[in-house]
Formats: sequence, structure tokens, C-alpha cells
Amino acid sequence: MSSFLENALSPMRFAVALLKLPEKTIQKLAQPEHVRERDLEIEMGSGETKIFPAWRVQWSSVLGPYKGGIRFAQDANLDEVSALAALMTWKNSLLSLPLGGGKGAVRVDVREHSKGELERVARAYARAFFDELGPEKDIPAPDVHTNAEIIGYMSDEYNKIAGKSVPGAFTGKPLAMGGSKGREVSTSYGGFVVLKQYLAQVPKKGATVAIQGFGNVGSHLAQFLVDAGFAVVAVSDSQCALYKKEGLPIQQIQILQEGGAGKKLRLKEIAQKLTLETISNEALLELPVDVLVPAAHEGVIHGGNADRIKATLMLEMANGPVTKEADVILRDREVEVLPDILANGGGVMGSYFEMLQNKEGESWSEDAVLKKLKDQMIVAFNELTNTKLRFKVSYREAAYIRALERIAQELS
Ligand code: NAD
Repeated sequence: MSSFLENALSPMRFAVALLKLPEKTIQKLAQPEHVRERDLEIEMGSGETKIFPAWRVQWSSVLGPYKGGIRFAQDANLDEVSALAALMTWKNSLLSLPLGGGKGAVRVDVREHSKGELERVARAYARAFFDELGPEKDIPAPDVHTNAEIIGYMSDEYNKIAGKSVPGAFTGKPLAMGGSKGREVSTSYGGFVVLKQYLAQVPKKGATVAIQGFGNVGSHLAQFLVDAGFAVVAVSDSQCALYKKEGLPIQQIQILQEGGAGKKLRLKEIAQKLTLETISNEALLELPVDVLVPAAHEGVIHGGNADRIKATLMLEMANGPVTKEADVILRDREVEVLPDILANGGGVMGSYFEMLQNKEGESWSEDAVLKKLKDQMIVAFNELTNTKLRFKVSYREAAYIRALERIAQELS
């Protein structure tokens, strides 16, 4: 199986060749500008000290300061962070944002640590990378297993070292620290808008949807879809998937996951409480639904299962969920894929709106944020569709062509 980084670079090479861009463009974009690797030394609740490897990969600043999330994950590694930083570069270009691409991670299993320990990891990250971060240099945001609370600790630590409040150094902050209304749902809302735009061309009433991953992105998307009349028939976390042919009670599931029954429940426990059928994550991917939404992890659709996907449309909300090999198989089988760098671009768009508000000292309403987001995502989708038709290529290839055209223009 190709590496995640190779998957993130291969369409870039395709676009560079198709556009006949100079060799120096590939040389400039095929490797990161900086790889920062640090060990975070953290005092555990027990008094012992543990080391957590941490990274910040700064892929490209051709279009502006580096921008991209920080994830906490037990299997985080340099290949993954590099691939995610490259994807951020293409995504920000595709969305016409004045931002480059970066990404960060800490190798930490969040389930094994207390809140206090995770706070210390977050603060240590801000200290370790302080010199390389900042509104004009590199602006992190939340990603897998990080949220407004974690970003809040990082931002607070950054401010302490800077000796002043620097709200523009992080996005996805808590509202009280200069966060933006609507940022938490912006990734999901952007994906929802893209899906609706696509389905307006190919109408499908009461379409059925399966969503792998019921975290920040998957759960908010599920709610937007249900509110719009879609039947969300399956959702999953890392343990199992819930399935109901007629559509799941998404709001009830969300409330229970968030602690509505006294403590936060995993989907397995929710299945028992609501007597819902459970299936495996693999089975979820192969359900006969109209729309499949990978919203959990990279590389989940690969050469070994792509020919068993029954959905005819895929909305890539996770970063890099489809490998290079699977992409070819899906295309041969005429499964339309709305690619990650467009589908989950609402997240960085929401972050950009937060940066603008911080810069101007403004606070926009959630309605205003979502309205702007919707307008921008529709523009991006329409431009992408035009490129797809012009070059007679897939949505993914068209997305890379558009992204590369803009970067090449800046480089020329
Ligand atoms: P999250 O941590 O909030 O949720 C992840 C979900 O996926 C959880 O339900 C988890 O149980 C599940 N999961 C984890 N590993 C899994 C596996 N192997 N199989 C099935 N389920 C698994 O993360 P998130 O913020 O919702 O991010 C999900 C994806 O979306 C990631 O690929 C992330 O990079 C991407 N993304 C997130 C944002 C954002 O704003 N949070 C923006 C753009 C892209």
C-alpha cells in the first residue's frame, strides 16, 4: 500500500505534468520547507516523567503563513503529519485563501491520560514550538482529538511567553479567548454545502448516508444532513458502527455521546441503551447507501476494499481516506469522489474567518459566519466543476489542477 505522503503528492505530480509546469515547481512543492521535531517531557499525575514525540511540519509558505491543525493520536508519525501538511497546502490554494500549508501532531493516546496531563501536553507543545508559531508565521487549529479546550491551553501558554494576548496565533479557540462562532461546525457545514451543491446537479430524494467517524466532523455533519431530510443510516466510532435502515436518531445519539445520561457514552453503549443494531466499521464502508462519508481516519478505503464499496458518491470529510490504489478502482467503478481538499475545506475557511475577526477586533454572529462560509464553498465548488469539465478529469484531479495553477502563478 502506498504511503499517506505518496497519496498526497501523487495528484500534485499529475497536475504539474498536465499543466506543463516547470520542474522547479515540483522540486519546490514535493518536500516540506521545514520539519520541526521535538520531544515533550510531561509530568504525569503519578509523578513520573513521560516523553511524547511532537511535530510541526511547515510544507509551503508560497501563498502565506503556514496553516493547519494539530492532532493528538497514539499512532501519529512524521509521514502522516507531512502528508497532512501537504494537503493543507493544496486545500488553502484551492479555496483561494492567503495561507500556506502546515500540520502538527503529538504521539499521545488521549484515552490513557487525565485532563490535567493532556493540558500539560498542550502547553508543552506551545512552549516547544513557540518560536516557529505566530499570526505571521504559522497558525495551528484543532484536528483529531484536539478541540477548543486544548487550543485554549496552547493559546494561553503562547500568550504567557509572548507577554501579551496574541489571539491570531491559533484558531479554533474558545469563544472567550477570541474564538469564532460557528468554527466548531464549519468543517461539517462546508461539507454539507458541497454535497448539496453536487446533488443539485444529480437530484436524489431522501438520499441515504453512512458516516464513518462520529467525532467533531461526523456528528455535526450527521445533524445537518438529518435536518435537511437525508436518512443517516450508519455512524461509527473506533469501536463499532450503529446501523438502522430507516435512519438513526442522530440527535439522541449525540446527546448520549456528550454525557446526557450522566456520563459520556461510546456508541457501543448507546446501541444497548437505544436497542440499535451494531455492525463493524468495515461493514459500514460497504453498505448499499447513496453517499458514503469517511470522517475518521486516512487510508480506510484501499486496494483491498475499494471494489466492495457500493455507494455511488463519496464525500471525503477525513483527510486522505482513499489511497492512490483505491482511487483508481473507484474511478473505474464510476464512484464519484468529492475530494478532501474541497469537502473538508470549511474547517480552514472557518479558521480564516476567525483570523479576520481577531485582526479587526470583531465578533461575527454564527449566521454571518455560516452565510459567508456557504457562499465561499459554493464558489469553490462551481469553479472546481468548471475545471473538471474543461479538463475532462475527476473532481480530485480538477482540485489539484486549480490548486497548482494558483501556486504556480505565485511562483512565476
Ligand atoms: P475527532 O477526534 O473529533 O473524531 C474522530 C472520530 O473517528 C471519532 O468518532 C473516533 O472514534 C473515530 N475513529 C477514529 N479512528 C477510527 C477508525 N480507525 N475507524 C473508525 N472510526 C475511527 O476528529 P475530527 O476532528 O472529527 O476529524 C475527523 C477527520 O476529519 C480527520 O481526518 C481530520 O483530519 C479531518 N478534519 C477535521 C477538521 C476539523 O475541523 N476538526 C477539519 C478538516 C479535516
